[in-house]
Amino acid sequence: MKVPSWLRLRRRRKAASTACATTCPTCGREMELEDKDTSSGVDMRTYRCDYCRKSHVVDHGTALWKVLSDARESGE
Ligand SMILES: [Zn+2]
Repeated sequence: MKVPSWLRLRRRRKAASTACATTCPTCGREMELEDKDTSSGVDMRTYRCDYCRKSHVVDHGTALWKVLSDARESGE
């Protein structure tokens, strides 16, 4: 299966933001991605901190599909 170019772009952006965006606000350790919800148009991701044994919801801004959708609408 051919991977679309936008998927590769998203992966690269995710990797670049991982270092600063997914550290635990309590202990500063790296968290693991547990869940992701973009249904509301906002990229909300739930990360789990193994050290604190807590889950933290991180707001990653506008979801990619919303950005693409808005761009498509304004382009027509
Ligand atoms: Zn923690």
